[in-house]
Amino acid sequence: MQKLKQIYEGKAKKLYETESPDLLIQEFKDDATAFDATKRGTIVNKGIINNKLSEKFFVLLAKKGVPTHFMKRLSDRDMLVKRVEIVPIEVTIRNVVAGGMAKLLGLEEGIVLKEPVLEYHYKEDKLHDPLINDYHIEVLKLATPQEMKKIKDYSFSVNQIMKDFFDKVNLKLVDFKLEFGRHKGKILLGDEVSPDTCRLWDKVTNEKL
Ligand code: ADP
Ligand code: MG
Repeated sequence: MQKLKQIYEGKAKKLYETESPDLLIQEFKDDATAFDATKRGTIVNKGIINNKLSEKFFVLLAKKGVPTHFMKRLSDRDMLVKRVEIVPIEVTIRNVVAGGMAKLLGLEEGIVLKEPVLEYHYKEDKLHDPLINDYHIEVLKLATPQEMKKIKDYSFSVNQIMKDFFDKVNLKLVDFKLEFGRHKGKILLGDEVSPDTCRLWDKVTNEKL
């Protein structure tokens, strides 16, 4: 598969069309952003690591029954994926209080949640990705209730699978972000699953990775 036209450049990746209208190539860059993209820089080979780890997680998740856009890794930085229509919602699952949740609710970082907490953020840079709920999703027509049921179920499955995975290497999966899309009428997990989209702490010392 060859990269044809570049159709998107985001903060972490570029997307290219291929000979097949159903398939895209996702290229992982070294660019790093933080704090709502107000801080920028590059981390050498970050793209390579995120590409290879995303491959690993997509393969694992598919094996455990979560459908994903991943087809195959093509090179150090490129992966072939199914083209999806992105649902403009970032799904966050939290197992431990940190970051935005600590700030929003005035809670101390590090509190272990008895049940995982699911959050939606509207993927809209202009609005700084505001926190939304099912009612907002309905009003904005971002997805149908049937689609949201799938998205929710898949997200909790991903949490269980990833938590178990990181536990074995002595890491605590504090929280992570997912994006989903539509492909031929089905909801697929898209984008990336990598250290860039997960918050990981040492299981014993809580040292931040
Ligand atoms: P952003 O800065 O918008 O987060 P990224 O650098 O993460 O962008 O680039 C990936 C972009 O491609 C994201 O906007 C994501 O929603 C979108 N995307 C991810 N997977 C697919 C796919 N399979 N088909 C179409 N778009 C995708
Ligand atoms: Mg992104």
